[in-house]
Amino acid sequence: MNVTVEPFVTKSIEETRQYLAKQTGLVGFFATMGYLHHGHRNLLKKARQECDVVVLSIFINPLQFAANEDLDRYPRDLERDLAMAKEEKVDLVFCPTPDMMYPKPILTQVSVKGITDLLCGASRPGHFDGVATVVTKLFNIVQPDRAYFGLKDAQQVAVINRMVDDLNIPVEIVPCPIIREADGLAMSSRNVYLSEEERKQAVILYQTLQQAQKWINAGLNDTKALRQRVEDTVNACPLADIDYVEILKYPELTPVEDIKGHTIIVALAVKFGNTRLIDNVLLNSEGKPV
Ligand code: AMP
Repeated sequence: MNVTVEPFVTKSIEETRQYLAKQTGLVGFFATMGYLHHGHRNLLKKARQECDVVVLSIFINPLQFAANEDLDRYPRDLERDLAMAKEEKVDLVFCPTPDMMYPKPILTQVSVKGITDLLCGASRPGHFDGVATVVTKLFNIVQPDRAYFGLKDAQQVAVINRMVDDLNIPVEIVPCPIIREADGLAMSSRNVYLSEEERKQAVILYQTLQQAQKWINAGLNDTKALRQRVEDTVNACPLADIDYVEILKYPELTPVEDIKGHTIIVALAVKFGNTRLIDNVLLNSEGKPV
């Protein structure tokens, strides 16, 4: 008989620590802001396959939102998230309140320099300090052996990897592939903000990334020319408003003129109305997806 066990759900840091102190084996951790979709599910499945204890955190971290961003309207559905956690046999769901994570004004911040100034860091100043700080706190609370992060946020993966490396945090970062809708749009909790027409046109991000890969495979190696073509393709889409188009070395996130021989990221951030979508493709030195 297949018995489904309810996950242990707690808001408390103390209870989380007590629960984990009693567990044995490899602890896998997946940090989210909730409103879970199939992309998140995939990471939970991977963690379940690879680890003895699976910990999911659900926390909309105010520290990583600027005053003009969508903190208050970020979608929430804890009941549905807990149902998915149960289906995926998560052991512990840690869903603290902001007051529990930040009981007093925070005087300590973790700040990864350089690679946080560009891409999403340029349009969202302070965002990655908020991310690095909360992930450090979560790592200290959960003390996982492995932590799973999606490459949809490839810059975040680079930042967390560097932070873990620089600060000798004893955790293995496991990057996971981008999970997409049938038409190619990268799954995101923020996709619910899109109007019907915006949702249709949002597929331009993936289509352009695929096209970029074709251009590269056909021998276009000059990043300036490639970037121009990518911008022109996205701009031809009436509702798309480009935030950035960048082609950089990955994970260094440094500029490169000729992509030949490098692992690169083609990264896009595009606004549709008030909704900002991001997507990317990582290509190895042979132009094959990583
Ligand atoms: P979020 O709750 O949106 O902050 O995402 C939590 C984690 O899930 C991050 O590591 C994301 O990169 C990852 N994630 C979100 N959407 C996807 C997706 N479509 N494919 C793969 N990973 C994802």
